[in-house]
Amino acid sequence: MRAHGGHYYVHAGQTEVDCTLRGRLKQGRRPSDLIAVGDRVRWRPTTEGCGIIEEILPRQRVLSRCPPPPRPPVEQVILANPDQVVVVFSLRNPPLSPFMLDRYLVACAAAQLPVLIVLNKADLLEEDDLELIALYRAIGYTVLTTSALSGEGLEALREALRGKVSVLVGPSGVGKSSLLNALWPELDLEVGEISTYHDRGRHTTVVACLLHPEPGTYVADTPGLRQFRLWDIAPEQLEAFFPEMAPYLGRCRFKPCTHLHEPGCAVRAAVERGEISELRYESYSKMFTYGF
Ligand code: GDP
Ligand code: ZN
Repeated sequence: MRAHGGHYYVHAGQTEVDCTLRGRLKQGRRPSDLIAVGDRVRWRPTTEGCGIIEEILPRQRVLSRCPPPPRPPVEQVILANPDQVVVVFSLRNPPLSPFMLDRYLVACAAAQLPVLIVLNKADLLEEDDLELIALYRAIGYTVLTTSALSGEGLEALREALRGKVSVLVGPSGVGKSSLLNALWPELDLEVGEISTYHDRGRHTTVVACLLHPEPGTYVADTPGLRQFRLWDIAPEQLEAFFPEMAPYLGRCRFKPCTHLHEPGCAVRAAVERGEISELRYESYSKMFTYGF
């Protein structure tokens, strides 16, 4: 559930056990690479409420990121075994930036993590937002519209989180804490606390901990995870992370094709025919040109 100074708090049935790592596990490895929040473990009880972790089970998925430069690119595990990434943006205040949303979606696709899009502040929804919502649904994403204020969409969100390990990401101020508080008031998360401290990249560690608001449901709290920049993605890999491009890949005259300027490009032709949205294509070309 969380780690602190060599102690690992393991959720077991109805209780939480304060565990240390068995010495043999630690040999030649830094604990930060060895065990992470979200890991499934085998443990042995020692004294009342305490235990020793004997084994860390293989990870099915992992949410990790690259520490900011000048640190060398060593994988930093933020959360082991997330079932889904919930990408939260607000429709208004701040307004939805499709480019920023697309960066999160590409990052999730590259990390092979299932994603759920939540568009919050639906109480502020305006007519032209509907087109954007429809666009992402047409591509195949699940999009929930919610309002922590009016309660709209909250039951659907609760249902989507139920029985899973989820991590909520998204810019600050979009209402992530408000949504969790609205679903489970007992969590009592701080709202409206906009900190720019972590944005400066001074903190190289992003510590996650798991909240457990109802049986079987886990939600990761990742206070430092503002910039959702995971690994760098090479420009030529990007096409694979735009699902709507899939039907056109391999059909361009030039192979490989960047889909930016080559004649006879099947992707650009699809944009011109309106089969791929211009907004999404713009995101692709911006990421290709200026880096992910
Ligand atoms: P976080 O940084 O993503 O965790 O966002 P917060 O939960 O701290 O919310 C940021 C601000 O948005 C606060 O002032 C909230 O009261 C406000 N807010 C959150 N959800 C909603 C919503 O559904 N509608 C409206 N109008 N405001 C909201
Ligand atoms: Zn092309």
